[in-house]
Amino acid sequence: MFTGPGRASLVLLILGLAAGACTPSPANEVPPTIAKGSVADAATSARAPFVRVIGSVQDGGFPHAACRGVACRKAREESKQRYIASLALILPASGKLYLFDATPDIREQLDLLNDVRGKLPDGVDRSPVDGVFLSHAHMGHYLGLAFFGFEAVHTQELPLYSTPRMAAFVRENGPWSQLVGKSNVDVREVEPGARVELEDGVSVTLVPSPHREEYSDTVGFLIRGPHRTVLFVPDTDAWHSWAPPIEDWLERADVALLDGTFNSGAELPKRSVEEIGHPLVTDSLDRFEALIGAGREIAFIHMNHSNPILIEDSPEAEAVTGRGFSIAREGMEFDL
Ligand SMILES: [Zn+2]
Ligand SMILES: [Zn+2]
Repeated sequence: MFTGPGRASLVLLILGLAAGACTPSPANEVPPTIAKGSVADAATSARAPFVRVIGSVQDGGFPHAACRGVACRKAREESKQRYIASLALILPASGKLYLFDATPDIREQLDLLNDVRGKLPDGVDRSPVDGVFLSHAHMGHYLGLAFFGFEAVHTQELPLYSTPRMAAFVRENGPWSQLVGKSNVDVREVEPGARVELEDGVSVTLVPSPHREEYSDTVGFLIRGPHRTVLFVPDTDAWHSWAPPIEDWLERADVALLDGTFNSGAELPKRSVEEIGHPLVTDSLDRFEALIGAGREIAFIHMNHSNPILIEDSPEAEAVTGRGFSIAREGMEFDL
């Protein structure tokens, strides 16, 4: 079903179910970015737009920071590091490249895109991506922005798409305000529910997602291509708190990458399910199984280090794949 970076794309089995489906009327259309940017090489330029998973785990990473649990120790010893949840959108025809979230693992994640960034300069590429969409202000989702600043890549007017609340957080708090002051980024506000038109017939709609709102609101993303649509909701409260229901968004997508932070309450024995504040994978399997039957693909992403579905061949991982779902990992690709 999936390909690794640099390998040929596999034909995905699910055909464009939602390409023509309705989306919320855009309240704030943002013009596409043009001119400067990366140049795709000949090998990828003929390909349709696609999304690549460049990170799959929760904000603390895997192995998790300072964790000496069995799974983290094993991942460390066997060099089976995973990166924090993030997607790249690759538009081979126009040579554009967009990131969904900027994680603390961004240095390594940019390297997962070297094959699609075309001819790279000898020194630092000051324009490694053409835009970044931010979901919210929790540490795993935006700290990587710092690498676009003065001390590191030093980008110029890198488009940063976010909700107005997230934009205000960036403008009003250091060190992010320095990125704005030095014109490393160009903050572009997009209302939740609104759509941004990009190049090559691809658009991105910000999907309002209920989630703890300490510093900003939270959005997921509906990424629509010429043929297929990918829904990315990596970090959210339980599905019952969605209004309208998550199914309204799933109906528009061929592929969905959904919050799989915790597999079951067994991972957090001292906390109630209500306190956990994420949908449990076991509940999502029951809730969405019928959608899989309808030919849709659903993969879990943003797994916590405690989640046994991170361990290949664990009974919990097999329960997921046995019911037709997938578990996201770095290198998976989905054509749009
Ligand atoms: Zn997170
Ligand atoms: Zn979060």
